[in-house]
Order: sequence, then structure tokens, then C-alpha cells
Amino acid sequence: MCGIVGYVGSRSASPILMNGLRALEYRGYDSAGIYISGAGAMKRAGQVSALADALPASFEGTCGIAHTRWATHGAPTEVNAHPHTDGEESVWLVHNGIIENYADIRAELVKDGATFKSDTDTEVLAALIAKKYTEDMLLEDAVAAALKEVRGTYGIAVASTREPEKIVAARLASPIMLGIGTDGYYVASDATPILKHTREVVYLDDREMAILTPDGYRVTTLSKEVLQKEVETLEWDIESAQKKGYEHFMLKEMMEIPDAIENTLRGRLVPASGEVNLGGLRDVLPRIKNAKRIVITACGSAFYAAQAGELLIEELTGIPVETVLASELRYRRNTMDPNDTILFAISQSGETLDTLEAIREAKRHGILVLGVVNVVGSSIARETDAGVYNHAGPEISVASTKAVISQMTVLALIAILMGRNNGLSLPDGERLVKEIARLPELARKVLEGHEKIQEIAKKYSDTTGAFYLGRKFQYPVAYEGAIKLKEISYIHAEAYGAGEMKHGPIALIEPAFLSVVLAPEDSMYEKSKSNMQEIRARGGRILAITTEGKEEDLKGLADDVLSVPKTGELFLPILTTIPLQLFAYYVALRRELPIDKPRNLAKSVTVE
Ligand code: GLU
Repeated sequence: MCGIVGYVGSRSASPILMNGLRALEYRGYDSAGIYISGAGAMKRAGQVSALADALPASFEGTCGIAHTRWATHGAPTEVNAHPHTDGEESVWLVHNGIIENYADIRAELVKDGATFKSDTDTEVLAALIAKKYTEDMLLEDAVAAALKEVRGTYGIAVASTREPEKIVAARLASPIMLGIGTDGYYVASDATPILKHTREVVYLDDREMAILTPDGYRVTTLSKEVLQKEVETLEWDIESAQKKGYEHFMLKEMMEIPDAIENTLRGRLVPASGEVNLGGLRDVLPRIKNAKRIVITACGSAFYAAQAGELLIEELTGIPVETVLASELRYRRNTMDPNDTILFAISQSGETLDTLEAIREAKRHGILVLGVVNVVGSSIARETDAGVYNHAGPEISVASTKAVISQMTVLALIAILMGRNNGLSLPDGERLVKEIARLPELARKVLEGHEKIQEIAKKYSDTTGAFYLGRKFQYPVAYEGAIKLKEISYIHAEAYGAGEMKHGPIALIEPAFLSVVLAPEDSMYEKSKSNMQEIRARGGRILAITTEGKEEDLKGLADDVLSVPKTGELFLPILTTIPLQLFAYYVALRRELPIDKPRNLAKSVTVE
């Protein structure tokens, strides 16, 4: 999920790789490392500058690989940083992604006498390649043999002491590109580290590998079939390369939502038994099964994801669930009973101070605290008793998008897991697992409609204020929509349960006022329509979010209608959130605001 850069050629690799790592820093990372043939490896936790300070002047050579790590398996320490190697230190590997079956492979390798230094999945892959790399073999054949045994995702670059002038790269669902220079060849996870050296690039596709030497490069399949790949010329400057050509990180990250959901679900669904497997909760499952009360705490958008989770867990388990703002929970009298209450704490960064303090307070009372965190090894990940990682990938835009969706997805997984322990039947479990597995594909469809959302956003970008209204499962979505609009477009927006509007807020409705109404075809559909009637009767403008097939039905009621594909009502919030995030983005774009860094806000809020 983070950065890779490699070089082989006639120049000195060390400055190319270190500058490459600096160019990759924009992604966010927790540690960095470099391997150069003939010089060895060096790694550091923390900043690339710490690695640069540690490198001796003699760290020289013409072939090497380097990495910025964004931990998924094992804390962000020096030992866990890449490159990883085998016991003999013959194979050196940098890796982005996740080897899902690393535990099984590791157990097999241990039987053969292998020992491991780190907690990473990557080290296991290095050892597997080394095992395949028998005396008569070439590095690329060993890599191909090893990759045939792994499940998961990878973008890798591999070097070896036996063939010191060679890099082998490969990809599966984690990007890798080659740079064709005049004095050497480059490999990288995105264009930023190589743009200074060359604009001629070759993109690897899934299950392809590349073999780079000072004399040339080859791209093959894992079965050695040689491929003729097109060399493309990059038009991007560094900044647009960081954003993959999108104007803002926020837009890039919304476009990554389907991948984020896919990575959140990866390896966690058990379709045959309608169950969910969350490795991070395994040790506490008996206590989860015993729970009589669930509390979820978070701040900001994570709090709205928590509210979506509250409804799902309650619906599927029948256990009472409540959400409490972290900044409130820590000062309230504790009523949570350590014997049967579980506290879930949600934070993208894992550093949110309010949430951390709420966790500490709950732990003082002996409560079992479970984290839902995106950043591995963060404070919340360390201080909670157990938890689930989002695996949504780094998020740079201050306004959270893909991470919120991933949080909602994790809570949906937790709801199914707990549901199956609390009377949710096998057929219902099977149906829900099937439905959730389709969400990446459906999210992709929602994103395809971004141009229409942009058109509509233009129309409303002058509104002085907005209501976001939703009922039942769509109630938290309304809050997420409103906070997003506030954060980046600076338009005053308020969310309400749609039924609550008539108890006061309706006084604000007048012709210029916008109401965004969540009205998908769910159990609340007719009620939501009535609420639209009430707004209509007072001349307010309405943007309705519905499900496919209901557009016509709402045309007479709403000024504009956006629709998402149909799915069961429990998971619809994951889809209806997406057009609201896009809407906020396009309104802010129209208003020419600094979208990725809105005024007064910080990405990770480490103050009280
Ligand atoms: N799964 C690997 C690790 O945790 C790769 C992390 C990354 O993509 O940066 O070390």
C-alpha cells in the first residue's frame, strides 16, 4: 500500500533511490528502507530523513531497491521495515500489499527450519522465494514459483546477492510500473520517484513480472511467456502523478472507494457458512459472544460510521448498542459493566486524542476495548485489547472519504459476525455475506455517475445552507453528508432524522434553501417521500438520493434525483454515502476552495 522504487543501470543507485523515497513521502508512511547490491541493507522506523542520516557515504552500488512502508502486518518498527530477506540473506524484497496466506506459508517454512525476525507477511514471501531459489535457478523463476503459492495482493521488487545486477518486479492488485531511462531501468509503485529521470514507462498488469538488468528489461507472465508491452509517455508533473492525475487527493481517494471496500473485505468473508472471520478479534471472541451491551465511540466522520454500525449491530444481534462521542464519553459517569459491555473505538489515524482518552478511561474501568483503526501500530491500535484493521490504504485528504466507507464496512462485518452468534440464521448470514461481497462492484457503478453529480453540484453551489435528511439506516448517512459539505465547502449544513424536521428545523425552509433527502427504496421509503412533500409545500429545493428504478417516482417531488444501485437496506448506507461525498467535493470545487486542506482542520486531531 505504500511506496516502492528500484534502479539498475550505470549510475549510482543510492541518490536515485533516496530521492525516490522522498518523492514517495507524500503518501504517508511509517518507516523506510533500502538495499543496494554490494552495500547491503539499511532500515529506519520513522522518516526517510532518519534513513538518509543513517546511510554511510560508502553505501554505493548500481542496483538497488527501496521502500516506504505503511504497515499492515506488524508494528511500524525498524525490524518490520522493508527490505526483507531470508535466513541466508540472499534474497531481498520490498512489497506493497498483503500476503493473505502468510501464516500457513510461514508455518510450513518453520517446519523446514526457517526462522523469522519480523512480524510481517513480507518476510515470509522473501523466505519462500529463497526456498524456491535453488542453485540452478534464476531469480525470476524462483519469484514466479513463489508467487504461484501466495494469495493476496502484491507489488514487489526483488534483488539477490547471487545475481547482483538484476531486479525482478511483479504485481497483483498493487501497482508497479517500469521506467525506461537512457542510463538504466527503474521500477516504482507510482510515477513520482522516476519522473525526474524518465517519462517513458511501462505499466505492469496483474500477474505479470518484469526482469530488469543494466542491459534491458523483459516483461513476462508468471509462466515465462514473454509479453510485448506498450511504452507510454507520461505527461504528468510530479504533483499530478501523486494524485494519479486527479485534481485533488479527495477525488482520488473517492475513486479508490471500491478498492478500499475490497481490501477491507479481503479474506474476511466465509460464504459457505454465512460467516465472517476477523483474525484480530479471534482471542476475544468468547467475550464478544457474551456481550449484553455494546458502546461505540469515535469523533467526526468516524462517529457517523459508528452510528451506521450501531443500527446494523442492533438489527442483526438484538443487543442494545449506543454511540457516544469520544469527547463526551471520557467525562461521563461510567455505566459500562466490565462483565458484559464491549467498547468499540473507531479512528482512521489511530491517533485521535479524544478517542484515545476515552479508551484509557474505559480501560480504567476494566472494559474490553476493541479498535477499528486504519493505521497499523498507531496509539489506538496499541492501547486497545484487540481490533480490526481497515486496510483502506493511506488517506491524505483531510476530509475522510474512503476510510469512512471502510469503517462502515468493518462495522457491517462485525454486525454479521456477532449476528451469527446471536440467532442470525444460516440463510440470512449467507445472503448478507453475498450482498456485502458485491459492494465494491456497486460502489464502482456509483462513481461512474460522477459527472451527473458534478452538474447537480454546480446548480446548488450557491446555497446558503442545507439540510441533510435521512431515516433509520440512512440517518447516519445524512450526518456524514452534512459534515462533508461543512468541512470543504464551508456551507452551513445540518443533518436531522427526516421525521424530526417538522419539530423545529422546518422553519428554515424557504425557496433558496436546499434539502438533501436520502430516500432509497427501503423500509422508510414512503415516509421519506412524505417528508419531501412537506419541504415541497414550503417551496424548498430538494436533491433526492434514491435507488435505481425510483427516479421517475421522485421526479415530481424533487428538483434533482441521484440514484445508487439496489442492494439490501442494511448495506445501502455504504452506497448512498458516496454521492454525498462527491456532491460536497464538487460544490467545493465550484467554490474554488482548498479542498484537500480546508481551513481550520487537521487530518489527525491529536489535541483535546
Ligand atoms: N504487508 C506489508 C507489511 O506490513 C506491506 C506494507 C505496505 O504495503 O507498505 O509490511
